[in-house]
Amino acid sequence: MRVTFPHMGNLFIPVKAMLQYLGVDVVVPPPSSKRTLTIGAKYGPEFACLPLKLNLGNFIEASEKGADTIIMAGGCGPCRFGYYAQIEHAILKELGYDMKLIGLEPPQKHLTELLAKIKALSGTSSWWHIFQAIRFGYRKAKAVDEVEMAAFRSRPRELTPGSTEKAYAKSLEMLDRADSEIALAEAKRNADELMSAVAVDSKKAVVKVGLIGEIYTLLDPFSNQYLERTLGRLGTEVDRSIYLSEWVNDHIFMGLVKGLRSRKKACEAARPYLRHFVGGHGQESVGNAVNFARAGYDGIIQVFPFTCMPEIVAESILPEMRSDYGTPVMTMIMDEHTGEAGTLTRLEAFVDLLARKKEVKEVSCK
Ligand code: SF4
Repeated sequence: MRVTFPHMGNLFIPVKAMLQYLGVDVVVPPPSSKRTLTIGAKYGPEFACLPLKLNLGNFIEASEKGADTIIMAGGCGPCRFGYYAQIEHAILKELGYDMKLIGLEPPQKHLTELLAKIKALSGTSSWWHIFQAIRFGYRKAKAVDEVEMAAFRSRPRELTPGSTEKAYAKSLEMLDRADSEIALAEAKRNADELMSAVAVDSKKAVVKVGLIGEIYTLLDPFSNQYLERTLGRLGTEVDRSIYLSEWVNDHIFMGLVKGLRSRKKACEAARPYLRHFVGGHGQESVGNAVNFARAGYDGIIQVFPFTCMPEIVAESILPEMRSDYGTPVMTMIMDEHTGEAGTLTRLEAFVDLLARKKEVKEVSCK
């Protein structure tokens, strides 16, 4: 059995670590690219959201590298995600790809089923070994998140253009290579040193933007046109509403790790505007927009795939939040037709507007 899974940003690092810890033969699909998207858009339904098309492309590219089994999350609620795994599997079958599907249902409601599937994957591993594997995956996710956050801070302030990117890529590579808890601790120390060695102008005034939206387009740089990197180059410090370790803590550890941001808190913040679950991360997007506005961020960017229903609901509510807090919000919708030049132009204009607004505010406060 050679197992693959969707390539969503840096998710492959903790997932690969966890599966390899359990002795599973893993085939990581190549990072999503134009080829991946072309394949997915060719075989996926036209109005399916972007992640389905990219997943399809990932699985076909992984199959070319020898993968024969797919691990894919399931879902519930008022969005199409719950059908994704089955639809993707049916399309692959029709195309002649003989791949086995292991669907993992949402852990909140199916935790024992999820653990049973992980146990089946891992062969004869004990429950203790499975626990250690999940913990190892979680620690990698946390390390990856911290390196990403360091990059968010240094990108807009770096003295040598591109130095953050180099340190970031090297740090992720070191974390990915670590194959034990001891190796991971050492890799994290080295990554921290590398990231803090990036020369920055710590006094430089930068605008701060909070990124909210649908999880796939938020976490996957290819699908959001390298939003974080571009904003960093435009002199903007970003923060994201979703990090992998927070998602794992919320959905798998049921909030056991204290001190992290949580879905619950985001939903509380959304209450004056949206009181119920609308699928995906729609409710959290509204709540996180409120949290970013309260924290004094200069602007908010919502990103989601074309036709993403939960985020369309959130988008329709955000203007009310914007008029209450006065924080500008821009929405970016991604699909296979989104062009790099158009994205860059919109980001430049938005960052300019935020910088001007900040300047005016600072002058009038003096
Ligand atoms: S959350 Fe949005 S992008 Fe994700 S499956 Fe649902 S509709 Fe599609």
